[in-house]
Order: sequence, then C-alpha cells, then structure tokens
Amino acid sequence: MAKKVVVASFALVIIACLFSGCKKFEKVGHLQDPGIVLTFDDDRIDNWYNYLPLLDSANVRATFYICKYNRFTPEQKRKLNEIKNHGHEIAFHSLNHYNMQDYVYKNKHTIDDLMRCEIEAGLKMMNQDGYYPTTFAYPYGAHNGLFDKILMRYFKSVRALNGTQDFSKSVVPTQHNDVLYGLGIDKSSNRRDQDVISILQSAKNNNGCVVFVAHDINSGSKYSVTLHRLQEIFKFVKENNLKYYTAAEISE
Ligand SMILES: [Zn+2]
Repeated sequence: MAKKVVVASFALVIIACLFSGCKKFEKVGHLQDPGIVLTFDDDRIDNWYNYLPLLDSANVRATFYICKYNRFTPEQKRKLNEIKNHGHEIAFHSLNHYNMQDYVYKNKHTIDDLMRCEIEAGLKMMNQDGYYPTTFAYPYGAHNGLFDKILMRYFKSVRALNGTQDFSKSVVPTQHNDVLYGLGIDKSSNRRDQDVISILQSAKNNNGCVVFVAHDINSGSKYSVTLHRLQEIFKFVKENNLKYYTAAEISE
C-alpha cells in the first residue's frame, strides 16, 4: 500500500513537472553554475556603447552602475536604453558620485541628507525614464555597516571594493548576496592578467562567482580595462563554461 502511494506521488510530481516545464528546478540548477559578474561604473555611456558589439560577440551580460544621470544628454539616454535592451543590468552609483563617508563625516551632512540628495533624487530621475535599479555600488567604494544597512531598504545588494590582496573576498556564492566586494581590473589596479585568470579559475573550482569592477573599456584613461584583458576573460569564461550573472541575479 505504502509503495503504491510513493509510486503515485512520484507520478504526480513527474506530471506536475511536465506541465510546469520544470522551470523551478531548472532555475535552481542554473543558479549554481559558477560564473562572473562583470561590472562597469560611472557615466561612460559613449565609451560603453561603442563596445556593445564586442560584449554581444561574447554573449556578455554585464552590470552598469550609473551615476550623474542628471547630466545625460538625450543621445546618451538613448544609448543607455540600448545597453539595457542588449540584456545588461542598469544599476545605481549615486547621483553626484560623492565619497559618502566624506559627505557625512567630513562635510557634516546628515545621513538623511545623503539618502535624499544622493540616492532618492537620482533614483527618482531614473524611475521617470523607466529604470528601476535594484543594486548599488558605492562611489570610491567608501562605505560602512550603517550605510549598508540603510541602503538595503532601497537595494538588494551594495557593492564596495576589494582593496585587499585577499582575492577570495571577491568570489561569492551565486545567490543571496547583500554586500559585494568587487575586484578592480582596470589598468590602475596594477594587476597582472594571470591574476585575473587565476581568480576566475578559483570561482570555477569553488562553484562561486567572481565580481570584477571596471570603468572605461579600452580608453586612454588609467581607469579603463584593456581590450586584451577583456578578451582573455571572455575566452576563459567560454572555455570553462562559466556563466555571466548580473549583480541583481546573485543578490536574489
Ligand atoms: Zn565610480
């Protein structure tokens, strides 16, 4: 009798699964794939837009943390929309890109001022144009536990910077993250390509996800990631079946 019940239950699960397309199960399996979150900061719309075909060619889905939205021209807004339409995440990086620690503790603004002027005012402008960012990156990585806690009322995760030599801090689980520590890959980081590749290898070995931070793509600025480095990353990701996640996806 018990055996019959088990068999019947199993059959029901199979039938339910067929009808639902096993969406739930697929999603769980999918989220456990090791991967990479490639993030770009600031307001470098024109530069990023020019490299959309490159990102498309490697099937990259990246996260763009946007600041100074109030200064975007209509043309830059059109470009941002196109970046979004290519499957990238449009995230938030404050309105004026102030160092938030300095804003409060050095320049003596209140935290309420900070939230109103740098977070809510910027989000409101983006909301009016149909963007609803769910993740945040701190300008200069300047944060503390109190800011993290308050910003969690607005966002699913906040990204600071990994200023240590402990690269493992930037390899995180593929879900449920709240504070991320991105590892810089711009020229200014003075990192070697082989270090960048070895952290990708570590993400793969640990079934985790590495969070990288860049600004421009292949420009003259020291705050830009070289084309060579990006291509090395794309190659490793492809050859090792890593998955591109957005910051929002690993913060669910
Ligand atoms: Zn920035």
